[in-house]
Amino acid sequence: MADYGHFIGGKIVVGTSGRFAELVNPSTGAPQGRVALASRAELNQAVENARAAQPGWAATNPQRRARVLLKFLDLIARDMGALSSLLSSEHGKTIPDAVGDIQRGVEAVEFYCGIPHLMKGEFTEGAGPAIDMYSMRQPLGVVASITPFNFPGMIPLQKLAPAIACGNACILKPSERDPGVPMRLAELLMEAGLPAGVLNVVNGDKEAVDAILDHPTIKAVGFIGSTPIAEYVFTRGTANGKRVQAFGGAKNHMIIMPDADLDQAVDALVGAGYGSAGERCMAISVAVPVGQKIADALVEKLAPRVESLKIGPANDPSADFGPMVTRAHRDKVRGYVDQGVKEGAKLVVDGRDFRLQGYEGGFYMGGCLFDHVTSDMTIYKEEIFGPVLSVVRAKDYDEALRLPNEHEYGNGVAIFTRDGDTARDFTSKVDVGMVGVNVPIPVPLAYYTFGGWKRSSFGDLNNHGPDGIRFYTKTKTVTSRWPSGTKEGAEFVIPTMK
Ligand code: NAD
Repeated sequence: MADYGHFIGGKIVVGTSGRFAELVNPSTGAPQGRVALASRAELNQAVENARAAQPGWAATNPQRRARVLLKFLDLIARDMGALSSLLSSEHGKTIPDAVGDIQRGVEAVEFYCGIPHLMKGEFTEGAGPAIDMYSMRQPLGVVASITPFNFPGMIPLQKLAPAIACGNACILKPSERDPGVPMRLAELLMEAGLPAGVLNVVNGDKEAVDAILDHPTIKAVGFIGSTPIAEYVFTRGTANGKRVQAFGGAKNHMIIMPDADLDQAVDALVGAGYGSAGERCMAISVAVPVGQKIADALVEKLAPRVESLKIGPANDPSADFGPMVTRAHRDKVRGYVDQGVKEGAKLVVDGRDFRLQGYEGGFYMGGCLFDHVTSDMTIYKEEIFGPVLSVVRAKDYDEALRLPNEHEYGNGVAIFTRDGDTARDFTSKVDVGMVGVNVPIPVPLAYYTFGGWKRSSFGDLNNHGPDGIRFYTKTKTVTSRWPSGTKEGAEFVIPTMK
């Protein structure tokens, strides 16, 4: 049975609040341990450790900081088997998908190994008489990250890599549903040579989050999770004077034009709609075939594929996807399907009563496929975050384009077509942050930035890539005169470059 405390000051410490969250194996429903939920006092203790460690770490030259990350990469590779099994046992995603989860985070660490180059400033010789001007990037100090359950490897890595590479000390508050991998990552960073206190993992719930948002020493907060909490974190954090980026939920559409390769589109929808049980912020949850002919053909091809999806425990290598993360979440997703039926959508494939023999206690649900969903229905408006795909039929391209543009979320979107004109028009006009052309899950690689628009994101800068450096540093600009002895007398008019 796991019994997670916190990772503070370079070591694992026992939680002292007396509050815990139970950890349950989603594949079996059996309890598998507990995680401590931090009090404000425990968060304060982590911040004190971070504050003490940060100046020394910032003064460590960037090549040495990069070497810690390089060693960290070796250690993750060494332990990938154990990390991915741990991840899938807590989250419920299949082991190959858990490897992908960690690997995506590894790619962010690889990018920030370039920190000596990435953090370089600018220099202008002779900006004025004997005057040079230069800019430099300096770390913010102590920063915090609050992360969701659905990528417990990738997202903590995407957050901590730039924060640490830039010379900050970091508080990571992972999801209380799957804290195992973030705790192991902190230990591996210590083994890689990170000084104690530079990374602290504080497990917890709202109490720990509120303590982070109110703590005056914490200068920036990076959040990823659902939209209501993202908005709350952004509002409270910025009101307290912090730099905040908060990424929220999604409703990702895939437009299928009449000229699309239908088999390719069906493969894409099955993988992007049902992979990881639909618990991805970039999952496709709405398919928009354009024109009745392609809509009928699409649903006809999709239905048998959804019916034959293989659902298994997380450690079944042949499963397409595993259980949902908790019983409560599975029941909530089932509730959405009930609601869709009530509101008049046609449930073509009903996975609500799926049971896995031998795993009756697990949080499984079969794939569900709705046809004739309309934009006023709850299942269209709200994020379901489960293995449920809605087909919304559009009569023409303009109607199809209006759907993602008028939706409150704007995380990802895709178009499947063989026509370059249509693809170009779509990528230009669609009001969404990440766009795929014949690519269903257009998640940018680590050296680009990731971020949705509208109510999928609060704050100005994107996640990872060059924006990671911008978010975790502040710019200082220096104007200097050498030789210093030039005497010009007192200047009362603002100097210009006339
Ligand atoms: P969540 O919002 O429930 O939790 C996210 C974090 O907030 C966790 O660390 C949690 O402990 C904390 N939290 C939960 N309730 C809180 C409260 N009332 N006050 C303060 N903090 C609270 O999200 P989740 O269920 O863990 O993750 C799924 C959601 O995350 C989905 O909506 C998904 O779309 C979204 N997500 C978005 C992105 C993105 O990049 N846009 C990426 C991954 C996941």
